[in-house]
Order: sequence, then C-alpha cells, then structure tokens
Amino acid sequence: MKDYLVRGISNSHNCRAFACTTTNLTNVAREHHDLWPCASAALGRVMAATLMLGAMNKDHEKVTVTINGGGPIGTILATTMSDGNVKAFVANPQVHYTYNDTGKLAVGLCVGTDGTLQVIRDMGLKEPMVSNVPLQTGEIGDDFVYYFMVSEQVPSVVSLGVLVDENNVVLSAGGFIVQLLPEATEEDITYLEDKMLGFPAISSLINEGKTPEDILGMIFDDIEILDHQDLNFECDCSKERMRAAIMTVATEEIQAMIDEDHGAELVCQFCNKKYHFTEEELKDIIKAKEDSANWNRR
Ligand SMILES: [Zn+2]
Repeated sequence: MKDYLVRGISNSHNCRAFACTTTNLTNVAREHHDLWPCASAALGRVMAATLMLGAMNKDHEKVTVTINGGGPIGTILATTMSDGNVKAFVANPQVHYTYNDTGKLAVGLCVGTDGTLQVIRDMGLKEPMVSNVPLQTGEIGDDFVYYFMVSEQVPSVVSLGVLVDENNVVLSAGGFIVQLLPEATEEDITYLEDKMLGFPAISSLINEGKTPEDILGMIFDDIEILDHQDLNFECDCSKERMRAAIMTVATEEIQAMIDEDHGAELVCQFCNKKYHFTEEELKDIIKAKEDSANWNRR
C-alpha cells in the first residue's frame, strides 16, 4: 500500500481530522540512516506529525520540526514543503532501548525530556513563525498535543506509531490528529474522550491493513474526506547545493582540503548521499569566491 494522508471533517462532532500511513517512507529513512528500532520509531513519529502539520498549511509553506530532548538520540529534525514530501534525520541513529515492563520501544527515554519541540513555519515572505514548547514525555505524540494546546490554542488528540520487527524492518507507521473546531461543545469533547479510551494503537491498525479513511471512520461515523495526498521521503540535495555550502566555508579551510586531503567528500545529512569534490573543483570554488569578493568590492 502506498503512503498517503487524508484530511477530513466531522460536522456532527465539530472536529477536523488528519490521518496518514507512512510505512514505506519510514523504511526509506531507515535505509538511508541505518536506523535502529528506537530511532526508526522516533523519526517515524516525527515525520508523520510533520507531514500532518504540512497538510494543515497552505501549499509551499515550509514546515520544519526540531526536537532535542537531551537523550541519547540527540537532535531529530524533519522538514516538508507541505507537498507530501519529507526529509529527516536523527543525530544518533544507532540507539535502542525498550521498557522493561512492556517490552515496548522506549522512545521517550531515547529522546529525553530536557529540551524543546520547535516548529518553524516559513511561507517564504515575512519572517518565519517559530514556536518552542518544552518537551512533556519525549514520546512525540504527547509533545505535539502540548504544542497544539500552548502554541496554537487548539485542543487536539495526536496518535503516532511505528511498529518494527526483529530484523529492524518497519512493519507499519503512521498517525492521526483530531482537532476540536472553535464551535465544539462540551458534548463533542466528551464524545472524543470516550472514543479515545481504549482506542487501538495506530501502528497495530495500520499493520492490520486499515487505511487512513478506515481509522478516521472508527472515530467518526460521519467523517467526510476532503483531500488525499501521496507521501514520500524525498531529499532535494544536489552537487550544486553542496557546492553552494562549500562556498560559505573560509578560503583557508578550502585550501586545507586541497593541500591535506586533495579533495573533499560531503555527505548529505538528510539522505547520506556522498558528493565528491576534486582538487580542481575546489580550486574553482576558491576562484569563484575571490571573483565574487572582488565584484562586491567594486
Ligand atoms: Zn540528500
């Protein structure tokens, strides 16, 4: 089944809802980064949430989520242009803990709680909107509930999940977000709370073959699906972009790459693709830097 996202609305319960399956793209991220299970779970949850945040926004708004909770996994970062494509990384992909009592992946322990969840929304016009909230449990879902409440004043239910097998393969991944609309009543809140009591884990539902529409249909019998969006892990790195990155490095440092290493190898942090620059290419970059410096001096 392809990864996709749906956006829907329940008029009788005054809620809007998003649901997505992200199994394939989480496996792509796992392969790019050689993720161990806890890192697959943490990154998979963050990617699903980031894609749903993107779906809440206008086209071409760049949404970047950064989580740093001081745990062994380090920084987790995911970014989307709200077009269904996401790219993401974790600082330390080879991290794995399980909770002793349940045997479940200990995402909260890996992420930590001594830090923040940051959301940057950039429409490319004015200053980007930056929100930082303190992490609650590091389990990601709870942290987004808190983010929506504090930063956007929208009461929300957030469910994110990733199921990994004993060979570290991602069996299922995805999530849903339900948000109360401003006209929601006490009855709507109670309805949603009751529905969520004992609601199955999202990763189990997806593993059973449930679609995003099925899952929203389990919450609301009148769910009206408004939009579909295909989802992919896609990195937009290129040799040109890497060259532009080297252009920002001090000339002496580029000279050192030539003298000491006789070239340079850059690795894209989002997809681990390697880009090699020869001595000649580095010399050209130094020359281009000098030319532009001279140009600016005129
Ligand atoms: Zn890349």
